Amino acid sequence: MTRVAIIGAGPSGLAQLRAFQSAAAAGSEVPEVVCFERQGDWGGLWNYTWRTGTDEFGEPVHSSMYRYLWSNGPKECLEFADYSFDEHVGKPIPSFPPRELLRDYIIGRANNSNVRDWVRFNHAVRDVQFSNATGQFTVRATNLVDNVDIEEIFDYVVVATGHFSVPNIPQFEGIDQFPGRVIHGHDFRDAVEFAGQRLLIVGASYSAEDIALQSLKYGAKSVTCTYRTSAMGFDWPDGIEELPLVERFDGRAAHFSGGDTREFDAVVLCTGYLHHFPFLPEGLRLATHNRLYPGTLYKGVFWIANSKVMYLGMQDQYYTFSMFDAQAWYARDVILGRILLPSASDMAADAKTWQSREEALEDPIQEIDFQTDYCKDLCQELDYGLDWDLACDNFKHWEHYKEENIVTYRNNAFRSPVTGTEAPTHHTEWWAAMDDSSESFLG
Ligand code: FAD
Ligand code: NAP
Ligand code: MG
Repeated sequence: MTRVAIIGAGPSGLAQLRAFQSAAAAGSEVPEVVCFERQGDWGGLWNYTWRTGTDEFGEPVHSSMYRYLWSNGPKECLEFADYSFDEHVGKPIPSFPPRELLRDYIIGRANNSNVRDWVRFNHAVRDVQFSNATGQFTVRATNLVDNVDIEEIFDYVVVATGHFSVPNIPQFEGIDQFPGRVIHGHDFRDAVEFAGQRLLIVGASYSAEDIALQSLKYGAKSVTCTYRTSAMGFDWPDGIEELPLVERFDGRAAHFSGGDTREFDAVVLCTGYLHHFPFLPEGLRLATHNRLYPGTLYKGVFWIANSKVMYLGMQDQYYTFSMFDAQAWYARDVILGRILLPSASDMAADAKTWQSREEALEDPIQEIDFQTDYCKDLCQELDYGLDWDLACDNFKHWEHYKEENIVTYRNNAFRSPVTGTEAPTHHTEWWAAMDDSSESFLG
């Protein structure tokens, strides 16, 4: 029997499990699926942990999420086509749920699929080898609980290990002598730690934006964000400023390239993450920075040099859960033989066309259109029906609300591309909502 290994049971891996389960439920014969998950539970990054560094088994802690994290995009841009928020919660809810509720939503669909026994929890994949002779893969994983290794043969490998877990940590002159805390966003857990402090944040993307706002919301004295390429440029609330890149530290003082100097109590590096696949051999290992059309992946999924290796969710992400679904459904249909892949040279040419288009994009609105077109392109051949045009429209409004006011954008409400439901507004404005429990959110 054909065997498929899925590595990781976060939203992407769970999308692949759901794709196979729904085909089976519709009467198709599906391969044997084994999902290896290093953590003790599914949910990926959405599993908050107090731990940083290494876990109870000495493995790197996966999650980069922190307390009081709320969705930064509207839920009407990530909703599963086959499992709506209305179905999950039983009533319309506001557009920007806190982490706990989104985790519950992801897991709710997985529980409904009855696929838990397809997952080997506490199994860290160590090594994947492809044999040209047999055309199969040998996957070696460590059962962390029993501390034993297992080795099994598979026909396909789906890599769904995420790419926002291994921090990118640059070096700055003098930072080794800085007298306060220096951490990467991956290890940031609770903004309250920085109450009363002068905080320096390095970076100019989503983590920098959200950790700056969080920290001010929970009592930081001041926040300075420092950028390498361009400022985020929002009309920040009093207490947050942006300066060009820090050049060097001198004790508590940081000197910026524009000539400014400030003193700080703590530094948070929001400098992004590495695509890191230590378990894959060089010939199968994706190497890329965080971009909309990464590496040599046909349809953003298939490793062109060996298309039995598939990657899910490796893109820079406007869309998340629904895009992972589209990718997983496509991967499934290729594995089931419903879709035939073109030749390697045609796949490479196709990927190149998308990448050239990506390289010419000039602003977030064009990027949103690009990723929408990508998702729609995948779905053309799939039984995964979503109103991508409405989701796209939601993203453009969201982008506009953010530019208008970075503090209030999460107070807006959107329409579901799955059910058409108009979201209600939240009972409390985001800036005043200090309690991020699902119980408080659902009120
Ligand atoms: P992950 O969620 O990272 O899951 C990967 C899984 O693979 C993990 O469970 C991990 O344990 C497992 N794994 C890794 N290596 C191995 C191995 N060797 N062997 C076995 N298992 C392994 N998206 C949104 O839509 N909305 C948000 O508000 C949002 N907020 C975010 C906030 C932060 C701080 C970060 C970092 C990301 C956020 N995201 C958000 C984006 C996030 O990337 C996706 O929502 C989603 O979690 C990606 O799913 P994934 O399955 O691809 O990866
Ligand atoms: P990211 O989007 O990849 O951004 C990385 C940032 O680091 C960029 O601004 C980059 O600057 C900067 N950088 C990298 N190297 C640097 C260096 N040497 N010096 C200075 N700056 C450097 O990563 P991210 O912001 O961590 O976001 C990751 C994911 O988490 C996203 O999907 C995001 O949506 C999600 N997230 C969500 C929330 C939420 O509120 N729900 C919160 C945090 C994160 P350049 O522009 O110069 O390259
Ligand atoms: Mg960018």
